[in-house]
Amino acid sequence: MKTLKVPEATITRLSVYSRFLEYLDQRGIVTVSSGEIAQGVGVSPAQVRKDLAYFGEFGTRGVGYNVKDLMRYVLKVLGLDELWPLVLVGAGNLGFALCTYKGFNDRGFSIVGVFDNNPDKIGKKIADLEVYHLDRMAEIIALHNVKVGIITVPSHAAQEVTDLMVKNGLQAILNYAPVVLNAPENIEIRNVDMSTRLEILTFNLSKKDYNPVT
Ligand code: ATP
Repeated sequence: MKTLKVPEATITRLSVYSRFLEYLDQRGIVTVSSGEIAQGVGVSPAQVRKDLAYFGEFGTRGVGYNVKDLMRYVLKVLGLDELWPLVLVGAGNLGFALCTYKGFNDRGFSIVGVFDNNPDKIGKKIADLEVYHLDRMAEIIALHNVKVGIITVPSHAAQEVTDLMVKNGLQAILNYAPVVLNAPENIEIRNVDMSTRLEILTFNLSKKDYNPVT
């Protein structure tokens, strides 16, 4: 089967569309046009049509899209027609916040194992989850068939945690540590660098006073 190279920006918008479609569905709305989706999420109607066209012909001219069908289809494209067990390493403040974040469950993500190397934390509970020693990672990954790991350790520990995740067979990592990780090419890594995001905002806010040297 030919693999489709879909731009990451399109995937990001699909995620946004899926939430908007869920919102419409919950309100009993049956059909929606590309123009309405566009308006609902703040992109152009042409962009919506282009994004959806990556995955085949949708909608009926003049009638629009069936909300339920399109929502299910977009969720399937995003891989969200199945449940995704996750493991998290780093039971600090950020790890705690993510473990107790309800928004993951709503999308079919479920943290099934939390790990730390601090003996004071091992055996303690975060919500329903016991914090495990790193030694138990292989066992938990195998038990739940986990493919995705989340890193919430400090920067200096993130690479060794990555190596351990790779060694234990994880295929994708969501990294909250503000550091570039090295991993084999087949491992998908996405960084959530919250400070960088804030710095984009502060740059944009202060830019009005910024005169580039020409
Ligand atoms: P706290 O002060 O309660 O530890 P924190 O969020 O300030 O919380 P951080 O220093 O950011 O803590 O570390 C996050 C978590 O990562 C901590 O629970 C820490 O024990 C854990 N950690 C640090 N290094 C490693 C490692 N190599 N392997 C696993 N966990 C680690």
